[in-house]
Amino acid sequence: MIALLAALAVSRAAPTLLHVNRTGNASYDIRLVQRPGEGPLVPLAPLAEALGGQVQRQGLWIVLSTTSGNFRFLPGTPVVEYGSTVRGLPGVSHVRGDSLDVPLAFVAEVLADPHRQAWNWTPSTAVLSEGAAPPPLTIRPSRTTIANDARSRSPSGFRRSHLVTIDPGHGGTDPGNPGMFFPRGLREKDVTLAVSLLVRDELVARGVKVRMTRIIDTLINLGQRAPKFCTSDCDLFVSIHVNSLNPRPGYTSIRGFETYFLSEARSADAARVARMENEAVRYDSPDSDPAPSGGLDFMFKDLQSGAMLRQSQEAASLIQTYLSEVHDGTDQGVKQAGFAVLNTARRPSVLVEMGYATNRQDAALMTSSDGQRKLAANIARAIITYLRQNEAETIDSSESASP
Ligand SMILES: [Zn+2]
Repeated sequence: MIALLAALAVSRAAPTLLHVNRTGNASYDIRLVQRPGEGPLVPLAPLAEALGGQVQRQGLWIVLSTTSGNFRFLPGTPVVEYGSTVRGLPGVSHVRGDSLDVPLAFVAEVLADPHRQAWNWTPSTAVLSEGAAPPPLTIRPSRTTIANDARSRSPSGFRRSHLVTIDPGHGGTDPGNPGMFFPRGLREKDVTLAVSLLVRDELVARGVKVRMTRIIDTLINLGQRAPKFCTSDCDLFVSIHVNSLNPRPGYTSIRGFETYFLSEARSADAARVARMENEAVRYDSPDSDPAPSGGLDFMFKDLQSGAMLRQSQEAASLIQTYLSEVHDGTDQGVKQAGFAVLNTARRPSVLVEMGYATNRQDAALMTSSDGQRKLAANIARAIITYLRQNEAETIDSSESASP
């Protein structure tokens, strides 16, 4: 079906020019950018000029500001964000020189969304005109109908359903780190659970299925978390933790967040974090459902495939990018280390250290309800972008594979 639609789309000549008509008769022609194997792309700078807006860089994001709203693009991903909406595009945005080229679908489907009533799109002539579109001829199906239609999209515009496993670190007899600057009585295991539940809620609201390794204060053996809760139907495994340092001069001033994927530790600090998190293995109960691994010595004997590591790295770097927007501590970057909880995973997997319990500001961020909401919302947004990106890659490769 996808191949047939693609063939139909190709048989109609792709437009080479985008015409923008503003009220007051100002009109602009924008030459579209063609890249082999991709749909037409619109250069953002002339589009901004035609719309009377501007393009700015905000950290890693490129933002198009217009009178009808701000649209944020993360170069290299097929995602546009506006307001609280994350929307998928049929291709990725490309940096070219000091500008960005975005898929034409952004103009056709997002700018000219009839519900926004700001711009009107005529596909046959590639004309974007200012003003509300005529009322749509078809009645939009209700959300209930959408949910019942397997071919239709989720609230995040996904083509298929996705499942993500969220793993709140520690639990039960394993408290994790003691939470030096946390309010009295709170330990790492409590904070990882609180944030994880908020991540779950964010993802579910956007149409992603979520499986939790725990939803209460209970112990799950380290080596069982990924293999038991993230099997072949699972897109991504995300383990959530809180960092801490052993006392040494100045250690309480160190703060920040980092995301790991499985590999041999690349630095002494990464090795330290892995040792700390792997400590939890001593709490594991020798129950009737043994871990498939023989413990830590199993590590690296079965290192995951290159594709899986690449996907894990991609998810880790998206989580860092999104966390940097809401975390005022240092972006410690994507790191690699040998975590027991990731070692047994058979799907792309990452471990997030949200901040240091041994730093007062990080601890306040991770234990305040506002801070937890922000951290969870942006971890969820990173996951959505990751799923969107990999969905686009999967669809692209299946299309190019068909005759
Ligand atoms: Zn931990």
